[in-house]
Amino acid sequence: MTAAPVRSRGRILLSSPDVGGREQEMVAAAIASGWIAPLGPMVDAFEQRIAERCGREHAVALSSGTAALHLALLELGARPGRAVVVPTMTFVATANAVTYTGAEPVFVDCDPETGVLSPALLDAALSALGAEGTPVTAVVPVDLLGRCADYTAIDAVCARHGVPVVSDAAEALGSSWQGRPAGSFGAVAALSFNGNKIMTTSGGGMLLTDDAATAQRIRYLSTQARQPAVHYEHTEAGYNYRLSNLLAALGLAQLERLDEMIGRRRALREHYAALVDGVPGVRVFQRDGDAADNCWLTALLVDPAVAGWSVDDLRQALDDADIESRPLWKPMHRQPLFAGARGHLDGSADRLFATGLTLPSGSALTAGQVDTVLETLGDFLERHR
Ligand SMILES: *Cc1c(COP(=O)(O)O)cnc(C)c1O
Repeated sequence: MTAAPVRSRGRILLSSPDVGGREQEMVAAAIASGWIAPLGPMVDAFEQRIAERCGREHAVALSSGTAALHLALLELGARPGRAVVVPTMTFVATANAVTYTGAEPVFVDCDPETGVLSPALLDAALSALGAEGTPVTAVVPVDLLGRCADYTAIDAVCARHGVPVVSDAAEALGSSWQGRPAGSFGAVAALSFNGNKIMTTSGGGMLLTDDAATAQRIRYLSTQARQPAVHYEHTEAGYNYRLSNLLAALGLAQLERLDEMIGRRRALREHYAALVDGVPGVRVFQRDGDAADNCWLTALLVDPAVAGWSVDDLRQALDDADIESRPLWKPMHRQPLFAGARGHLDGSADRLFATGLTLPSGSALTAGQVDTVLETLGDFLERHR
């Protein structure tokens, strides 16, 4: 079967789904098999392959990465009266998962260079929460734009304070930290297969753990907490959070192509790096970690005092050429949603937010689209020399 890849025409987007003939084949096979309902053999196979890829004992396929974070925190005991530490530099889903449980999100700032959770500030935050007697259910490091958090340092800090780690690896499938794959860290880890992520099931997520009892509880909670009985018997409130067999088929096809898709994103980052090489005040964000990163999104950091222009100027120029670009995540402590939330902050996330811009990074970009983006960026740099 041949199929035209499904792509948006016109505007060049940051990270569109990279889906084609193989995906159509696998979804068609799932339909032909009659397994249309949630769950089924392709969900089982998808869970097994992801668990292998991430070096985990158990994987539970869920309807989203947010659902995985929510159930992970619930299972660890997050509830009103307890705190969960979250980096302020993240997508809102990390913090929303805490809010769903009734626990208090406490925001901690990031490393100024890499943007991932600062172990030193985390230590200070856990000490302060301990001193005031607030129990902390978990710390949720985020693998920002595919760059793994510093799990060596974070694990040491969390062990000292006796707090478990829930790894938000939603952006990081295919990355690694000191030779270990993203998703293998923490008591529990969460992946996302949303449409804009490194690979997609259109919408979906995965919870990863090495603990059989945790995996079993998550399966139970995600299927309406149904007790073993011939009728429907329930003793607690559950959730409808499982992944459909059709979407798992899409995931299996994407997983076959994951390394190729990462290779395309990496090549794009190399092009950007070559273009800004030697331009005063401009550099590629997280460049020192490239070898271990999946290069999900490439961002530039621009010091306007040195460059003579700001990321906003560049964003405008790209937008005029119908090319999407976007600032880094707006820090959670700056969101109206979390006004009044507590934080241990040193201005690093604010600075990255003010000086960073993510560029089209998707593996579905055509050669022609890549040329358009690089030419537009090159012209901008030429005009602003
Ligand atoms: C995408 C994302 C999520 C949420 O994943 P969904 O599958 O969209 O629910 C959580 N955390 C981070 C850091 C993300 O980028």
